Amino acid sequence: MAVPEHWITLKMIELRSVISRPVFNAGCGSVLNENGKVEMDAAIMDGRDLTAGAVAAVNNIANPVQLARLVMTESEHVMLISDGAMHFAEHCGIKPAPEKYFYTPDRVAQLEEARRRHKIMLDHDDADEDSEDQKYGTIGAIARDQQGNLAAATSTGGIVNKRMGRIGDSPIVGAGLYADNETCAVSATGYGEEFMRSVISKTISDFIYMKGMNAEEATKAGIEYLTRKVKGRGGVIVIDKDGNCASGLTTKKMIHGWIEQGGKAVVRF
Ligand code: ASP
Repeated sequence: MAVPEHWITLKMIELRSVISRPVFNAGCGSVLNENGKVEMDAAIMDGRDLTAGAVAAVNNIANPVQLARLVMTESEHVMLISDGAMHFAEHCGIKPAPEKYFYTPDRVAQLEEARRRHKIMLDHDDADEDSEDQKYGTIGAIARDQQGNLAAATSTGGIVNKRMGRIGDSPIVGAGLYADNETCAVSATGYGEEFMRSVISKTISDFIYMKGMNAEEATKAGIEYLTRKVKGRGGVIVIDKDGNCASGLTTKKMIHGWIEQGGKAVVRF
């Protein structure tokens, strides 16, 4: 039995009512770079034909993943960055959001702390294991429809105190996301440099393509590879071509959940 749509909607409303401030590291609530500025990355990929769109180092865009989708559908390119992406946004009729829209007191305090400690860090590096207050993170979404089409999307503000102009894995096809109807859809979160060097999302897809693994086996193999090769810190969510879902991480926590058709919602903190 398919999950009734209204159930998902109800849960969304419930969730929205308990969140009184931005808690995720994307769009409004993104982390700040070394200059105290927001620079966001996002990408989307369609597993039917491997089309993809990405934007990197953008500011003043309220929903960067929507702009990434327009790059995929309305341009002949895969990635646009910085001023070029902003110019394209204007061409598509997207109004820039004022700088103050993105800033939250939590992120300002987090940057101050990172500067004080001379650290570049994940937005939830310091999360207290038991704190209900610290549920931050990059946003990733993966999906499979009833025809077996797969898609993936990732959106982030990056890492705290990053250098100006630094682009992470999130907008890079094969690193921060991947989707191929023949294998799986993957979205990743963690220290982008390690995810780029290990091309982790494509590596997981390759485990399925070349070794006939399912989502769980490929995720396990991918996390082992990430750890062994680059001591990668972060995690992935995966859905395979048959609809099996899996997740893996090397950090303390990664908030995620899924609904398999006919199954119960799984939520993990
Ligand atoms: N992967 C993102 C980046 O390196 C950060 C994150 O996922 O938290 O930009």
